[in-house]
Amino acid sequence: MTAQQKLVPETNTWSEPFWKAARKEKLILQKCSDCGTYIFYPRLICPSCFSDNIDWVEASGKGKVYTFTIVTNNAPSVFLDDMPYVIAIVRLDEGVQMLTNIVDCDPEEVECEMPVEVAFKKLNDEFTLPVFKPA
Ligand SMILES: [Zn+2]
Repeated sequence: MTAQQKLVPETNTWSEPFWKAARKEKLILQKCSDCGTYIFYPRLICPSCFSDNIDWVEASGKGKVYTFTIVTNNAPSVFLDDMPYVIAIVRLDEGVQMLTNIVDCDPEEVECEMPVEVAFKKLNDEFTLPVFKPA
């Protein structure tokens, strides 16, 4: 078996502020200055009104589990040591949804609509991932 490494996120110039903030354990979102829509994932124009007048704002870091799955079985991979783990879509209080992990709890205790808050999981010096834990 060959040595493997976990993949890191692919970035671009307009997502870089998000990753830079995450490195400092801050969760930020884009917000359209024209129509007020919160935007995630990072984009160049507002998906609601097509304005490019977009700012970065700090997120509340709070939300609820929208849906999730518990990974208990995986082909030999770099994730073997993480099992069981929870992959979830969290709907933030700002209305956007994030694909993430739920941490710091028994995976069997996770349920839809469970209140969660952001936590941060450092992958390496360049990437820290926003994850969520029970609130
Ligand atoms: Zn807009």
